Amino acid sequence: MAAPAGAAAPPPTGAALAKAAASRAAPSDGERAKAVEAFRALGLCVQLAEAAASLGWREPSAIQAQSIPPQLAGKDVIGLAQTGSGKTGAFALPVLQSLLDRPQELSALVLSPTRELAIQIAETFDALGQGIGLKTAVLVGGVDSTGQAIALGRRPHVVVGTPGRVVDHLSNTKGFTLRALRHLVLDEADKLLDMDFEAEIDQILKAAPRPGGGATAAGGGAGAGRRTLLFSATMTSKVQKLQRACLSSPVKVEVSAKYSTVDTLRQQYVFCPAKYKDAHLAFVLNELSGCTAMIFTRTCESSRRVALTLRNLGFGAVPIHGQMAQAKRLGALNKFKAGERAALVATDVASRGLDIPHVDVVINYDVPSNPKDYVHRVGRTARAGRSGRAVTLVTQYDVEPFQRIEHLIDKKLEAFPADRDEVLVLLEQVSQAQRIAAAQLREADGAGGGGGQGASGGAGGTREEEEGGAAAKRCGGNRDFPFIFSGPSRERPQKSMV
Ligand code: AMP
Repeated sequence: MAAPAGAAAPPPTGAALAKAAASRAAPSDGERAKAVEAFRALGLCVQLAEAAASLGWREPSAIQAQSIPPQLAGKDVIGLAQTGSGKTGAFALPVLQSLLDRPQELSALVLSPTRELAIQIAETFDALGQGIGLKTAVLVGGVDSTGQAIALGRRPHVVVGTPGRVVDHLSNTKGFTLRALRHLVLDEADKLLDMDFEAEIDQILKAAPRPGGGATAAGGGAGAGRRTLLFSATMTSKVQKLQRACLSSPVKVEVSAKYSTVDTLRQQYVFCPAKYKDAHLAFVLNELSGCTAMIFTRTCESSRRVALTLRNLGFGAVPIHGQMAQAKRLGALNKFKAGERAALVATDVASRGLDIPHVDVVINYDVPSNPKDYVHRVGRTARAGRSGRAVTLVTQYDVEPFQRIEHLIDKKLEAFPADRDEVLVLLEQVSQAQRIAAAQLREADGAGGGGGQGASGGAGGTREEEEGGAAAKRCGGNRDFPFIFSGPSRERPQKSMV
């Protein structure tokens, strides 16, 4: 059970993930047998090889091929892998194999920098462990911890969490201990350290058995020793320090050069004056109608504003950002994952680690100031060998950061064809949608009593803000407004302008 207790909308379960995999082009019996064989060749047992094949995985990804055999041989591994490389399977499969060999509760702890990623990792464990009675628990902040304590009481085999909440439970939840821990996984270690989780990681390391065997670092218990896996997109000096502190003679596995983008990704840009940015966004979305899109903004406020503007244009968009309450964040993500919304308007909180299999296009509404964030953002599409597209809106103020991106990825991006007159035709509708959005934001913030981010921003916006609300109706939205995109978001709009 991967659902974090206390969240309003439960995330998809492992079964849902397996169902989603089944809905992809189903492999023939021969292909499936080949996939099982390929995973078996890494040293995995037939049950797990079949579980991987059931998810539609036809062969091990590079990080899986290189890191699973040393893990099965009991080695610590440091894996440098780009986002979307299949690294969750790379650590989940060996953990599951060890559990099959020697079942034990609280056997593995996976630390993740973000709540969403933690949930996603647990979903992958659930999907792969479906047939073997695996129990997982998710410990993340932002939701009530009582349900999590109850989940821990069910003695899960694998716990996935964010460091702060894991430490909370270590201090406050009776019976939760890491003394028998056999596998510690630090996922997205560079991000964990960027987010200043060092103190928490330290506490967790003290509570866990030492690498290779013996008592916990704090001196208590008599653990059987732990294996440690550290995965990171980059090898920073902090990651190196962490590696020295907690890995024992690790095998280093690196599957791609730093900060490259995959070949199956088509990368484009649109040059547009800042004041016509929303019109260009609408234009691009209209050109790519039928696609599911993740749209990245720099701030929480602009994620809210852009999502509302798009909704007012009839496009199914939902915001996700760090100032939303956790339950709302999960709700937004699940609506998008389930295909109920065609666009997720996100800040960088959502740019790393999230696995949303059906993202066709990533749109950078704001050019990220750190070029590395560009690579993480566009990594939401073209995952695991599939194709995808990224379109970046570049205004007169973004030329320098845009050039830094091209320099980092060592590629010149191609122009997205946008005829100026065709874009300008949209201006009137977009301006009206913006005005309604501004009224909706005022209304939502006012409804919260405090105004600004503290009101609706803190709670992630009211339902009015999410769904349109009174301001939209007063301004003629939803009924009289001449939408660019018509029909419910599930029925993707055909390519039509007005
Ligand atoms: P991750 O990097 O773990 O977030 O995985 C990215 C995506 O790749 C997820 O949708 C996985 O289900 C998928 N995936 C993982 N391993 C494989 C594989 N061997 N073949 C195809 N897809 C995979």
